[in-house]
Amino acid sequence: MIRLNDIIDNLDHYLHLSEKDVDMIKKAYVYSAKVHSGQKRSSGEPYLSHPLEVTGIIAKMKLDVSSIITGLLHDTVEDTLATSEEIESMFGKEIAFLVEGVTKIGQLPYTSKIERQAEGFRKLILATAKDIRVVLIKLADRLHNMRTLEHLSPDKQKRIASETFDIYAPMSHRLGINWVTTELEDLSFRYLNPDAYKTLSKQIAKKRKAWEAHVEEAKVILIEKLSEFDLSPEIAGRFKHIYGIYRKMQEQNLEFENVYDVIAFRLITNSLKECYETLGAVHASWKPVPGRFKDYIALPKGNGYQSLHTTVIGPFGERMEIQIRTRAMHEVAESGVASHWKYKEGKLDGSGTYEIYATLRQLLEWKDIQDPTEYMEAIKGELIADVVYVFTPKGDLKELPIGATPIDFAYSIHTEVGNKSTRANVNGKLVPLNHQLKTGDTVEIVTSKDQHPNRDWLKFVVTSGAKTKIRNWLRTEERKQSEIVGKSICERKFKQHGLDFQAILKKGDISNVLPELKIKDIKDLYLAIGFGKISANDLLKKVVPSENIDAESNKERIEKIIKTITSSSDGGVLIRGYDDVMIRFANCCSPLPGEDIIGYITRGKGITIHRHDCPKLLEVDLARRIDVEWDSKFKGSRPARILVTCTDKPGILSSITNTFSSSEVNISKAEIHSTDVEDAIGTFDVVVTDLSQLEDVIKSIKKVKGVKSVERMQEIEAI
Ligand code: MN
Repeated sequence: MIRLNDIIDNLDHYLHLSEKDVDMIKKAYVYSAKVHSGQKRSSGEPYLSHPLEVTGIIAKMKLDVSSIITGLLHDTVEDTLATSEEIESMFGKEIAFLVEGVTKIGQLPYTSKIERQAEGFRKLILATAKDIRVVLIKLADRLHNMRTLEHLSPDKQKRIASETFDIYAPMSHRLGINWVTTELEDLSFRYLNPDAYKTLSKQIAKKRKAWEAHVEEAKVILIEKLSEFDLSPEIAGRFKHIYGIYRKMQEQNLEFENVYDVIAFRLITNSLKECYETLGAVHASWKPVPGRFKDYIALPKGNGYQSLHTTVIGPFGERMEIQIRTRAMHEVAESGVASHWKYKEGKLDGSGTYEIYATLRQLLEWKDIQDPTEYMEAIKGELIADVVYVFTPKGDLKELPIGATPIDFAYSIHTEVGNKSTRANVNGKLVPLNHQLKTGDTVEIVTSKDQHPNRDWLKFVVTSGAKTKIRNWLRTEERKQSEIVGKSICERKFKQHGLDFQAILKKGDISNVLPELKIKDIKDLYLAIGFGKISANDLLKKVVPSENIDAESNKERIEKIIKTITSSSDGGVLIRGYDDVMIRFANCCSPLPGEDIIGYITRGKGITIHRHDCPKLLEVDLARRIDVEWDSKFKGSRPARILVTCTDKPGILSSITNTFSSSEVNISKAEIHSTDVEDAIGTFDVVVTDLSQLEDVIKSIKKVKGVKSVERMQEIEAI
């Protein structure tokens, strides 16, 4: 087991620890030992060995003092009685935040399905982590868990290894921490493909001696050749890591014997200039393999990696891979993101923090950021600000723009799921359909075959996919409705004149006039009439010679003259200039005769009548508003809803209902419920002839003893 003092000694190589830092690290150690005491790892070792080893790895990654302390404490909140509050009071906000971050990542659901969605899951981790140190500490944690994986059951081994292979090794690669990446890859390979791993290790073991001898000989020759050019770089010979060899065999379909560039040399120079000089010397000594030279100094890799790569035919006729770089480039290659960090007294330098995020954004290659305010946003904490990652109940990961709602989510699954959404559960709780989803949410959509998209959904959905699909549905539906309406208008118009529209249609008389009306077919004709583009009257005149239209009686003629001024629909509303229009009353304001009203031409549904002051009218297209009036002869009835607040005492309800009936107002529905303050609230759906009748009855109810207030309610929908 690594000792705390060894770790502290290691830190001294790159951090200048103050006494306070050392005290804090020791305090974390003592605390961790206390809360983990009695716990054992599956290996049988005391649990404390794990946080200690993890902290050792963190030190090797060259992270800051806070990360070191977090390493010691990283499992306390998850696995012991320690709480976040306690950590914060003892070690401060920053440490509590980091420990919480590592704990949260550990709790993200990983299912085998993630394999396909690994990239999204990695982003999810970054979004959850909010601070890149959390990710690095988690990598250290995972590395030690992988090193000790043999003590777990085969099931757990497979699961953890595949998660490591799919998620953590690529993340480590992206972050450029080479030594962690190769170790994670080798360890996952060992558990995921034990047979291949065993075979390959045996093959490598057999060759190892020969390779080592080979490396030594080649090294001597390299040193000699390079000294002819007055160059003396530091030379290290190494073998490709086992998974690297396996990958090569797979990718190029090679047998083990035919993998040539297993041996690689790394030449570390003192300056950039020497890198290219060394390359020249190498190429002058051995024949380079065409197409294998890569200048990652001039064109660094996405993760910041810089180096010159070449492959030459070596002194024994074998291929040798050679990497040439400066000491600084080497640090980046080994420690990745952390090598960019600058420390001031054990803490990240303020300016350093800025660089970390800037570098990170580039490393992750998600976006080129030019705008400095975007950098600032990144520094503030949110690594990914513009998307949320949510799960389906089956564990599928969905990436949605920020502000996305369950409806966006539903449409991202399937158009039909979107169209039929009735309810949404987020993390098991019922939420409204316009609820904004958060990263990590599990979203379940309840569908119903009776449900269909609602125009209101357009107000809150954010994905263009959902918007388009909702609009498409509404458009199709409007067309269907308009077609039906258009057809019935035609039939009614012809019937008024004693004509059978369908019979005329069959004879072909209608089709004959369509080109003149610039209409394609009968369906289009219904639509044009339904939408009000063509009047049924014009159609009638074109189709039937005027002498064949039934002569109208005198009475009808007079009525018609009146109708040309105002046309009254069945609903009791006069509409200028429109003939045979369907009308309906808007539920939002439910106008009553006696109130000022305005009509709104809805596609396919005729004209909707609103109160002139209805707020809904503010949202509609002015061009589609038309003036309408009540027909004074109208003797129909209209619904209204009244809200009565009264004291909750016996008999009061019957007094109220008596008042309704003595005003000759019928109640169609009533609902009473008690409030917590000794009051009762009654909702009455009534039927009245006009506004004055409603006002009269409200006045009478106000006089009933015990009634506190009476109001007319705007919206009339099912109670
Ligand atoms: Mn751990």
